[in-house]
Amino acid sequence: MYDVLRARYTFACPIREQASVPLSAFREVQRLPGAAHPAVYRVRFACVCGDEHDGLVTHEELDWAPLAGSDAVFLNVMTARLEEAALELLDLAAREIQAGRWPWSFFCYPEERPRPVTPSAFRVLTGGGDELGLAVECPACAHTTVNVVSPDHVDVPFYNDRHVGVVEHIFAADQDLSLAAFRAELFSGAFDAGRRDLAA
Ligand SMILES: [Zn+2]
Ligand SMILES: [Zn+2]
Repeated sequence: MYDVLRARYTFACPIREQASVPLSAFREVQRLPGAAHPAVYRVRFACVCGDEHDGLVTHEELDWAPLAGSDAVFLNVMTARLEEAALELLDLAAREIQAGRWPWSFFCYPEERPRPVTPSAFRVLTGGGDELGLAVECPACAHTTVNVVSPDHVDVPFYNDRHVGVVEHIFAADQDLSLAAFRAELFSGAFDAGRRDLAA
């Protein structure tokens, strides 16, 4: 059950042809200008081959694949064939959300409150070890906040860390937070990461 929910995204890898990676292996998520139906995102991810590559995902794949247990369900939608397991998982997710439990959340620093979020609001992730730096563009106030979370916090839908690290810095709403700049800033120790409660 746990493994089913720990969905992976499948991308092309120039060395291994195909790579399946969890959300926590994403390094950068960028919405491409132009395409709107569906919106398309460019994802830079840390591949199992040790390199980083770019891949493309639609808005639906990005936000719903982890809840459906697989990104393959969306190919099946195209051919009007939904897998039963995926349907059940999506139904389960819908009921959780209706009950007020969100698959992902983060702590918005400018607003000083937890906010529900989906992976398409993730902007930059730093990897390595037990802690993950996660820059989220808040769907409510449009400011970007950096949280320090566990990999499970992003990889396991409906699992949230009880406490998260919050980098106490207000990034400009339209700031282009490049991967290199973000990594340099987060690991420079220039920012203080205070702890906040995420659990209600
Ligand atoms: Zn690769
Ligand atoms: Zn906010």
